[in-house]
Amino acid sequence: MRVKDKVAIVTGAGQGIGRSIALRLASEGAKVVVTDISGKEFDTAKEIRDLGVEALPLKLDVTKYHEAHDAARQVWEKFGRIDILVNNAGIYPFKNFDDMDEGDWDRVIQINLKGTFNCTKAVLPYMKAQNYGRIINISSIAGTVVGFPNLSHYCASKAGIVGFTRGLALEVAKYGICVNAVAPGPIETPGTQIMDKEAYEAIRRAIPIGRLGGPQEVASVVTFLASEESSLITGQVIVADGGYTLQ
Ligand code: NAP
Repeated sequence: MRVKDKVAIVTGAGQGIGRSIALRLASEGAKVVVTDISGKEFDTAKEIRDLGVEALPLKLDVTKYHEAHDAARQVWEKFGRIDILVNNAGIYPFKNFDDMDEGDWDRVIQINLKGTFNCTKAVLPYMKAQNYGRIINISSIAGTVVGFPNLSHYCASKAGIVGFTRGLALEVAKYGICVNAVAPGPIETPGTQIMDKEAYEAIRRAIPIGRLGGPQEVASVVTFLASEESSLITGQVIVADGGYTLQ
């Protein structure tokens, strides 16, 4: 029960990594606000309630600041705290740079990077008021440790998240708020399951542990960063990739 009675907001928690993070935080004692754009936040919240833990599903498109602001206000009014924010919502639409237009670029930056800004901006006044907070941003090895072709917009957004993490960590440390990032390698999620078999196999072979990661393995790192055990860690990026970027 490493996050017992903490109140956590997870974005993009209807499926994949976000869903696993929400379930894990709940199983470790947190009250979880499950947010997503897809409607699947209700499914994840039901799974949590089935465990006998409180969960609040909220529709939240992270690109809309007013939705993030309203969500934070609702959470504060209901629970009187916001301890943990996991900025997980993100997209990775493969497109080579020649075919990429301004709209493709803007969409990825809006969801992945601006979405992280919006949700953080919305919760920070509450975290400051309570002198406590844990913000965990889901970045990627893409753009931060290695490059990935056909994902230049994604790489830019994920490198931006790391810069944001480091800068903000310095500003909010005095309020008892830690800001860290997790950089996963390839993870089995509905988002990556649409990869063709050949591409999937090539990636699998390139991972020293011989398999893609599971979303619950990312959730373990996030739970550590959300807990008291990580109280001395801020502004850091934790790579979780089964050794993919070591070679
Ligand atoms: P996923 O399976 O595609 O799930 C992402 C969830 O976010 C979906 O429910 C999606 O809804 C939702 N979403 C999309 N746009 C949103 C918005 N504007 N506001 C709120 N929610 C939105 O993704 P995943 O693979 O779990 O990845 C989760 C995070 O981990 C992302 O930030 C991703 O970049 C990062 N990551 C993933 C991997 C990997 O290999 N899977 C590796 C490194 C980092 P819809 O289904 O309706 O779009």
